[in-house]
Amino acid sequence: MQEAFLFIFTRKITSMLNIVLFGPPGSGKGTQAAKLVEKYQLIHLSTGDIFRTNIKGETELGKLAKSYIDKGQLVPDEVTIGMLQSEADKHTNPAGFIFDGFPRTIQQAEALDKYLNGRNTSITMMLSLEVNEDELRKRLLLRGKDSGRADDQDPAVIQNRIDVYNRDTAPAKEFYTKQNKYKGINGVGAIDDIFQSLCNAIEARVNG
Ligand code: AMP
Repeated sequence: MQEAFLFIFTRKITSMLNIVLFGPPGSGKGTQAAKLVEKYQLIHLSTGDIFRTNIKGETELGKLAKSYIDKGQLVPDEVTIGMLQSEADKHTNPAGFIFDGFPRTIQQAEALDKYLNGRNTSITMMLSLEVNEDELRKRLLLRGKDSGRADDQDPAVIQNRIDVYNRDTAPAKEFYTKQNKYKGINGVGAIDDIFQSLCNAIEARVNG
């Protein structure tokens, strides 16, 4: 009886595939998240995308977020964590989540662990796209021309986002390293090759 309970309990803990897709701005998280979502049927939660939808819709949250995003600063943790949780709550029985652009601080990482624990699940692994700063600056300016994203058009805002990443966000790698869940992936090269590296890492984790 006890074994049966334990089996059901562990199955529930491990059955979702929850990925943190990590990396500096311009590292290709959005591009790769779209491909991973398709392959593994995951729910894609991009805090940047949710903020942009709110900005377009001129909601209160959007107005608040815009004041930070335009300067290349992080939106405060309380706001971001609350928003992420209410978006995740909309999905009652997903195959898993892919968190794109979240967590961006240790406090967000801790809140995410607590939230998933409350759902009897946990982060499977963090996949971190590693791209050097010169390449990031080039990619972001190019994206600014194509997408019209204001925060991708001003070199000072771009540099601020990279600095904020190095100072406040990169330490989250340590958080997942301590849990044995961190995996760095070379984010420079052909999109399909990078995708293959991500899939290999996921499959090694899930089957290994
Ligand atoms: P992204 O699309 O992920 O590059 O995010 C665009 C901007 O949204 C960032 O530069 C931040 O200002 C804000 N943002 C997105 N995700 C977060 C987060 N997890 N915490 C705080 N701010 C965020």
